Amino acid sequence: MTALALELHRSVPRYVAQRTIGRRLPGLLAGPISSLRLIHREAPALPGDGWARIRPLLSGICGSDLATVSGEASFYFSALVSMPFVPGHEVVGELLDDVDGLGAGQRVVLDPVLGCAARGIEPPCEPCARGDHGLCERITGGHVATGLQTGYCADTGGGWSGALVAHRSQLHVVPDGMTEAAALMTEPLACAIHAVRRAAVARDSRVLVVGSGTVGLLTIAALREFSEAGPIVAVAKHGHQAALARRYGATDVVPPNEALGAVRRATRAFRMHPERSAPFLLGGADVTFDCAGTRASLDSALRATRARGRVILAAMPARADLSPAWYRELEVVGAYSGAGAFAESLAFLTDADLGGLVSASYPLSRWREALDHALTAGRLGSVKIAFDPTKE
Ligand SMILES: [Zn+2]
Repeated sequence: MTALALELHRSVPRYVAQRTIGRRLPGLLAGPISSLRLIHREAPALPGDGWARIRPLLSGICGSDLATVSGEASFYFSALVSMPFVPGHEVVGELLDDVDGLGAGQRVVLDPVLGCAARGIEPPCEPCARGDHGLCERITGGHVATGLQTGYCADTGGGWSGALVAHRSQLHVVPDGMTEAAALMTEPLACAIHAVRRAAVARDSRVLVVGSGTVGLLTIAALREFSEAGPIVAVAKHGHQAALARRYGATDVVPPNEALGAVRRATRAFRMHPERSAPFLLGGADVTFDCAGTRASLDSALRATRARGRVILAAMPARADLSPAWYRELEVVGAYSGAGAFAESLAFLTDADLGGLVSASYPLSRWREALDHALTAGRLGSVKIAFDPTKE
């Protein structure tokens, strides 16, 4: 079986050029220097027992995907992927094969982490053995090539294609009656639930959420459902984001340049004005989530959090000035995957239809437009942009 696939096949010089130009001129991202190409390729082979082919019905474009294809991701991740790979780790699909109790035709969502169970590694590593497969230490071994997740592995294919392969342990059944758009939110919502758990938010904590794209909005929703957080200040750049942030439970929503002031007022903190650098607070939020992953968002998260408060990295982080982490003795806590929170995420989505967050879906043939739209989603009044590989 052959299928269309968007494949990332970057050469180093091209990658470096892209790194330089990528974000400055968004139109160029999907232009001639892109290391993505649309090809017809054989569907990936089944790597072993317990694997099945999946036809993606909807596949999200995530901030980490944009950072990867634009060459902005840290070189740290280069050791955690195998080339060439097909991006796409937020996947709603249809099984093409029967596999361990699931029949062909069944709709599924993908837990993209490729841990020991998927790789057939026995005995599993310590994190996998205790159920934390998001922290797997064997992501280079077993039945498939190196890859922290589906969508970064040369052997599995990815969601931005007509066919991929997945292991039974990665699959969760989509409840009857749930729309594909709602189901597409399962993986990002699972990540948000995991981030809220990692934050261990104490009752009535004063929370700051920096960024109101998909990650920020789902984090606010997860905070209201899975914690006893007190007032939540959300930072939103655009009007539709602000309205959604309020709807999902933010107490106060402000633009980025008013974030520090809003937290200062809410927590009676003092604002400090260093030379040649952004202001910061003495006092501030108890818990802050960086949901944007830019240098500016992480800097303001660190600068608006009280001493010994907690800063959660809920998005793939950019470099930032760690001075406040040292001086204010902050706990900086990573929250990388949604592994372990898929059941809660699906249950939540059954009650609260978040499918409306999917603003547009594109056929693979219009991938340049799709990526441009995803890069500028906030400005265009959109939230989540997806591929619909079933469309021509
Ligand atoms: Zn493992």
